[in-house]
Amino acid sequence: MSDLLTLTPEGLYSPEAGAHIDPVRPVEKAIITHGHADHARAGHGAVLATRHTLDIMAIRYGEEFCGQAQEIGYGDRLNLGGVEVSLHPAGHVLGSAQVLLAAKGQRTVVSGDYKRQADPTCVPFELVPCDTFVTEATFGLPVFRHPPASEEIAKLLASLELFPEQTHLVGAYALGKAQRVIGELRAAGYSKVIYLHGALEKLTAYYESQGVKLGPVEPVGKRGKELAGEIVLCPPGQLGDRWARRFGDPVAAMASGWMRVRARARQRGAELPLILSDHADWDDLCRTIMETGAEQIWVTHGAEDALVHWCELNGRKARPLNMIGYDDGEDADSGQVANG
Ligand SMILES: [Zn+2]
Ligand SMILES: [Zn+2]
Repeated sequence: MSDLLTLTPEGLYSPEAGAHIDPVRPVEKAIITHGHADHARAGHGAVLATRHTLDIMAIRYGEEFCGQAQEIGYGDRLNLGGVEVSLHPAGHVLGSAQVLLAAKGQRTVVSGDYKRQADPTCVPFELVPCDTFVTEATFGLPVFRHPPASEEIAKLLASLELFPEQTHLVGAYALGKAQRVIGELRAAGYSKVIYLHGALEKLTAYYESQGVKLGPVEPVGKRGKELAGEIVLCPPGQLGDRWARRFGDPVAAMASGWMRVRARARQRGAELPLILSDHADWDDLCRTIMETGAEQIWVTHGAEDALVHWCELNGRKARPLNMIGYDDGEDADSGQVANG
């Protein structure tokens, strides 16, 4: 492996820094890229992360989510056992970061999850030149090309105009996706109240408290049919649930990169699939790999083999990491605040 990183059963580990990155089991010291449940787990000794990620972990797991929390701001440098560690925006969700490890003239970047598409709710991805780049591959197949978010939001607004008597129920994960859907709706000029299932309230309120402007939002509470013609956001699992029946005959939409796949949309009960992803699509994965200038590419969760093959065709050394414990990206997050 590289000098700076090895693979352990807990996940990626820097022996010199004495820290794991997004470990899947409790460890002594963890650097956490972002708050999604498969990357950010409770029970580590020390956690290093951005302020937003630490806050999100505390919201989901309680204040005691680790022994000792240490904030690192984007661009701050920290020396751990001779390794210079810094965090850089990943453009994935609020607080998401790529981890740069630099020592002995070598630079390794662990990108966590990332996207290059604009997102009104978080800081854009920053390109960090490096020698070894660890990339996700959630949508690492050429069939995955995400349309602009504005096109997908336009579909939702068009449906609302066409069916003004029906509640439009949008399934969206609690961390990141729900807030992005709201932000994109505002960017498209939608100024009415947007209603939230209880499981989305805490993190949405947190985004607002951090200066992300989301406009008027209200809990659904006990309301049902009186929300005809309104937009209601809920965790994906609620779309086909008894809870959804309170709205009579709602239009069920779902916001996810997986909505490109018809079978997934059907499985979710989404009549109106919205292809809205917080992960890089195939083109952006390939472009990012090239732009980092890295000669070695390590590929993790997702379609690893296809991207490894592409790297090799393009003169890069590449290897799949085959790590276990990470879910396939956007379905990773159950949308429940309590259990992540
Ligand atoms: Zn994620
Ligand atoms: Zn992930």
